[in-house]
Amino acid sequence: MRTTAIVLAGGSGTRMGGAVKKQYMDLDGHTVLWHSLRAFEDSDVNDIILVCPDDDMFEIAETYYPEFPKIEQFISSGDERYQSVYNGLRAVCGSDHVLIHDGARPFVDGDTIARCLKELESGTPACVAAVPSKDTVKIADENGMVISTPDRRSVWNIQTPQCFEYSLIYKAYSELMSREFEGTLGDLNITDDAMVVEHFGGTPVKLVMGSYNNIKITTPEDLPLAHAILSGKAGQ
Ligand code: C5P
Repeated sequence: MRTTAIVLAGGSGTRMGGAVKKQYMDLDGHTVLWHSLRAFEDSDVNDIILVCPDDDMFEIAETYYPEFPKIEQFISSGDERYQSVYNGLRAVCGSDHVLIHDGARPFVDGDTIARCLKELESGTPACVAAVPSKDTVKIADENGMVISTPDRRSVWNIQTPQCFEYSLIYKAYSELMSREFEGTLGDLNITDDAMVVEHFGGTPVKLVMGSYNNIKITTPEDLPLAHAILSGKAGQ
């Protein structure tokens, strides 16, 4: 079985403010993206496809390729995350499985990646890293009025990697992209890859235990927590 990791580094990081995109921010002498790549380079995945903006590609290749020889291709990102994923998926060559990972999640650990790989190898076609929600979640309307409260025991926070049989995720994404082209997507707001399989793959998605440290660096408030995780001070 051959597995490719698609690492996404194409976002503009606008919610972060400042001049440096979130994937290039410094965490203990290395960029956020470096930490993500390290985890996959050290794992059992066979190769890595790094999806990044055209403007950054030369510098990224020069910076990361020597240290991460599993990177086989640098692929242009799209305007939206799902477009970046599709570009990455189209570049996959001869792999049975793919792990799709947000480059902005620098603390993905080897154990989580290993659990995902084991799940795929046991025949599960679609699985995503997740942790049980510690907070009660409310569904609200556009005025902030509560509509309902799902039972917290069935609420999970979804992370990456999101992991699939390649043929399944490629077909589901191809369907998504043709519907987008035809203008028949409606108001579907695609926020992760599992959603694409839920809508267009016809296959159930399994949750695999992730880690509470596997945070996504999104806003400046995440940085102190990221430094605390790095220095081992953050709790689980
Ligand atoms: O913006 P968001 O937090 O959803 O980004 C999640 C991941 O997707 C980040 O690693 C980001 O670099 C990547 N991304 C991308 N292409 C985009 C938008 C986001 O590769 N157009």
